[in-house]
Amino acid sequence: MENIQDYTREELATWLENKGSRSFRAGQIFKWIYLKHAQSFDEMTDLGKTLRGLLGQNFYLTRLDLEDKQVSCDTTEKFLFRLDDGHHIESVLIPEKDHFTLCVSTQVGCAMDCKFCLTARGGIKRNLTVAEIISQIRDARFYLVQKNIEPLKLSNIVFMGMGEPLANYDNLIKALCIIMDTDYGMKFAARRVTVSTSGIVPKIAQLGRDTDVNLAVSLNATDDKTRSKLMPINNKYPICVLLEACRKFTMKPRNKITFEYILIQGVNDSKEDAHKLVKLLAPIRAKVNLIPFNEHENSPFKRPGPKQISAFLQILLDKDMTAMTRKSKGADISAACGQLKAKLIDTK
Ligand code: SAH
Repeated sequence: MENIQDYTREELATWLENKGSRSFRAGQIFKWIYLKHAQSFDEMTDLGKTLRGLLGQNFYLTRLDLEDKQVSCDTTEKFLFRLDDGHHIESVLIPEKDHFTLCVSTQVGCAMDCKFCLTARGGIKRNLTVAEIISQIRDARFYLVQKNIEPLKLSNIVFMGMGEPLANYDNLIKALCIIMDTDYGMKFAARRVTVSTSGIVPKIAQLGRDTDVNLAVSLNATDDKTRSKLMPINNKYPICVLLEACRKFTMKPRNKITFEYILIQGVNDSKEDAHKLVKLLAPIRAKVNLIPFNEHENSPFKRPGPKQISAFLQILLDKDMTAMTRKSKGADISAACGQLKAKLIDTK
């Protein structure tokens, strides 16, 4: 038995043809799964009984096991899912003015070992399957259905949850296929999907060729010495190599790459750093997202004071950069950037 959500529509069409059915049925099945939120093949009444039986013999259609849900005082919600093999992952549903954004995980844990990030602490357990990536989104939309909220209001996806998306590249691409399937799949517009990376350079170029999603890069420092200390990946792909890949990243004329920059007191938050950041990003169509460090236990790092933060931002703005400080949502339920740990540490 296979999880039907591991299949892209094209793959399902091929499977159907091989079984003597018609390929266009894949579109009908997709609509049931991703737009009508079916719980079983029996509900798919515009398919013949034989086909429904065939699907039931070969595939299963399930939701993730929602083990826990926490609601922040800013109404951000964090879902804790238990996977079939007992591992846990988290997704974060962020309400915006007129829509929702879902922060999606791509791995159980993470191998990148960034020193400021809580997810890194448990190391990497495994990649998520296509179905596990997709289910986070399908289940979140179903959750909205149950709350009488139009599910398509969940219109934005950020791959900024647990894991390094570009380290699970093949499954990411297949998941994106389903997410951005506008006729039968999940109907997300490419401009509303963002993939964030710690900087796996060869995969950045590939992502630009394979998709037209938005790119976000976790930069976090303006010199190699500091960045390598914070993010070991920098030893392999130093700043100049990373930024060159960003400069060449194929994107639509008015698009920009988002550079995430955590502000850590005394580490990367000086005025000099701000000026260096302006210089580094000058050749790139860039916008900067400053994320004041979210403190967590066991980390020596501190968040700079509000004055330091706004001074840093002002330097960027004075140089006409597009920049903002990101309001970290859900901090009180450990749903904010770099706080997702999903029992990784407690189960170790
Ligand atoms: N691995 C990918 C996807 C995760 S995104 C990447 O690194 O881009 C998670 C974001 O949260 C990253 O931009 C990271 O720099 C940021 N982050 C991690 N820990 C943080 C913390 N304690 N406070 C604030 N931001 C943090």
